[in-house]
Amino acid sequence: VARIVTAGTEDSFACDWLQGLCDSVGARLAGSPGYEAAVAYAVRTATEAGFDRVWTEPFDGPCWVRGAEHARVLAPVEFELPILGIGMTVGTPAEGIEAEVLAVTDFAELEQRAAEAEGRIVLFNPPWGGYGESVQYRTKGAVEAARHGAVAVLVRSVTNHSLATLHTGMMSYADDVAQIPAACVTVEDAGRLQRLSKAGATIRVRMLMDHETPPACTQANVIAELRGRERPDEIVLIGGHLDSWDVGTGAHDDGAGCAITLAAAQLLAKLELRPRRTVRVVLFACEELGGHGGQAYASAHADEVSNHVAALESDSGSFAPRGFTVRSSDAVIARLGELAAPLSSIGAEAVSAGWAGVDIHPIVELGVPGIGHRTHHDAYFHYHHSPADTFDKIDPEDLARNVAAVAALTWLIAEDETSLRDLATEVETE
Ligand SMILES: [Zn+2]
Repeated sequence: VARIVTAGTEDSFACDWLQGLCDSVGARLAGSPGYEAAVAYAVRTATEAGFDRVWTEPFDGPCWVRGAEHARVLAPVEFELPILGIGMTVGTPAEGIEAEVLAVTDFAELEQRAAEAEGRIVLFNPPWGGYGESVQYRTKGAVEAARHGAVAVLVRSVTNHSLATLHTGMMSYADDVAQIPAACVTVEDAGRLQRLSKAGATIRVRMLMDHETPPACTQANVIAELRGRERPDEIVLIGGHLDSWDVGTGAHDDGAGCAITLAAAQLLAKLELRPRRTVRVVLFACEELGGHGGQAYASAHADEVSNHVAALESDSGSFAPRGFTVRSSDAVIARLGELAAPLSSIGAEAVSAGWAGVDIHPIVELGVPGIGHRTHHDAYFHYHHSPADTFDKIDPEDLARNVAAVAALTWLIAEDETSLRDLATEVETE
């Protein structure tokens, strides 16, 4: 472990790989030409990195195409209103929408003022209350506003720190409610519009959005494998998601997770450490548009899910390493705590019960011990899903420490005499 940690913190594979992905491939929205370029890049680089086998697994998943977007405040004072359509939103009619704005803080205020929503553009300006709390306005705002007759929604970007950045993300519609356009605005503009409203002004906005939701298109998970030396049929899966939003270049979300896990396995190969079990790196497709790559993997590998000893996902950015959260039995969590103890030299020894990851969730639900790689990610939402999530936000030393942490834990799980999967099953059958 000491050798892996030392070599990992000195290894530049992840940094070089991530720079190539962010700068030369760039944005890679599910189903886009950028995503296809990312698949080609991942297959080529993994093949060159010395994996025993590299392949792709295509499936049909959703896609969405951003078109032109423009908004302007017309009254009580005229100014440009930068907007960023929320993923999967419908567009406006070709002539756009012009309407009065109803500015509310949250869903409770919308309910109180429901009678005022008809024909209006509803602006949600909730204060940051943590991602889980704040993201509801992005995911469900259009449905809640449309129930009361609104014609569009504008949502304060979901971030805890803004320098006028726009943050997109996923939304959904409900079958029984009209589908209305939804876009994010900056924290700064959301605040200004709500202050004008509270001061008694009538606000008028004109907005135009031209988006398309084509039928499902073919996308692919990318898989690279190091065969185990004694128990090749037993699999330790590690990975992240290769798709990103179409703004920024997905450096922290989740180019970093792909770089960390690919580099971790590459490091074992480079050190000629062939583990007892197979290490399989999966770079998942279509996470941002609903976790479809993870579902496709679970379906394609249904007959070998029981051979998966553990699944580890890295999707919380590359900040200083902290440790791992685990979704499995107490026995698995205790064993992982013992295995991770030597990682205290790089601050990555913390193991606790918690969320594992969107992409591995389908197989974790089928009994595979799930492990989420965790970092000190207080700054994560500064960049998340915005044009600012770019390679310059990556600290090469933190990235290398994350590679060291994931490589060492992967080695320990793949080498361990005790199978984590057996520890999970023992508890299930008790
Ligand atoms: Zn992500």
